[in-house]
Amino acid sequence: MPVRIEFARHGGPDVLHPVEFTPREPKEHEVQVANKAIGINYIDTYVRSGLYPPPSLPSGLGSEAAGVVIKVGRAVRHIKEGDRVVYAQAPLGAYSEVHNVAADNVAILPGAISFEQGAATFLKGLTVFYLLRKTYEIKPNEIFLFHAAAGGVGLLACQWAKALGAKLIGTVGSAAKAEKALAAGAWRTINYQEEDIAAQVLALTNGEKVPVVYDSVGKDTWEASLDCLQRRGLMVSFGNASGPVTGVNLGILNQKGSLYVTRPSLHGYITNRAELEEASNELFSLIASGVIKPEIPENQKFALVDAVKAHKLLESRATRGSSLLLP
Ligand code: NDP
Repeated sequence: MPVRIEFARHGGPDVLHPVEFTPREPKEHEVQVANKAIGINYIDTYVRSGLYPPPSLPSGLGSEAAGVVIKVGRAVRHIKEGDRVVYAQAPLGAYSEVHNVAADNVAILPGAISFEQGAATFLKGLTVFYLLRKTYEIKPNEIFLFHAAAGGVGLLACQWAKALGAKLIGTVGSAAKAEKALAAGAWRTINYQEEDIAAQVLALTNGEKVPVVYDSVGKDTWEASLDCLQRRGLMVSFGNASGPVTGVNLGILNQKGSLYVTRPSLHGYITNRAELEEASNELFSLIASGVIKPEIPENQKFALVDAVKAHKLLESRATRGSSLLLP
């Protein structure tokens, strides 16, 4: 029987455990995928911990993987058995050897992109696509701030920003991560363990500050991020790695310069097949042309049954780029 990762209560990484299960048949608009590489995302830790609770417990975990279609629902026309595919918006349970996914949430993986590259970049790359191209359209030469620039989403953002001709200032937690972000295309980095974020941004922009901040760190960086923004600038708060931002007095947006704030998610930007195709075509062409090179360090590839170890490493802040589970 196939194996998947489940958890029966919320808590630290140790609540995750492998179970054998019998996959149900795909529904009429679904396909069944034999996963070859599974993407690990920080959001998976929020689901596990209970910050984003699943509909019920016990629950599967994970929403991203690349693999081969082994069964096709009756109503599916554009995907067939044997297709190489990748997905990022599956129901919880992608940490599994086999998973059922709505066919409209599946993209054909181009031959030039491996399963590992697909699973390492799909959810994170679609995220960078909507952040830099839709939430706020980054322009050539524009200077902007992007937190956690050496992480999975972060390293892709560095590369994408460079491709757009823009100047990404990336925050990072260590000197080694700064090197990674710069090599990927960041214009400048700020080590927020040692340097004051707002003071550095002020200095790097000759006092002008930035029109947009992308903040996935959350609680720890919220106020510093606002201090980096120009008058009427946009704060894009898209994650909670240090904990969620809560209890905000809206007056702070007035005090810091008539600012805007948005709290976007992938599900608000990729809502149908046309939007998925637009985003994935742009992502795949950047990967196929070598503009975006997925970063998957060997020590961040784990056996599926070692999901506990993978979550411990991710939450320790010791990872850079993407991490994978391999069935
Ligand atoms: P990362 O690989 O970026 O890992 C998280 C990073 O956050 C860490 O490596 C660390 O980098 C930084 N960090 C800062 N403070 C903390 C802290 N207190 N504890 C742990 N980490 C901290 O993860 P992902 O690439 O998977 O995701 C990045 C972020 O983007 C997450 O917050 C995620 O929720 C968000 N996201 C949001 C989406 C959306 O649509 N809204 C979609 C996808 C991701 P450092 O050591 O350099 O500080």
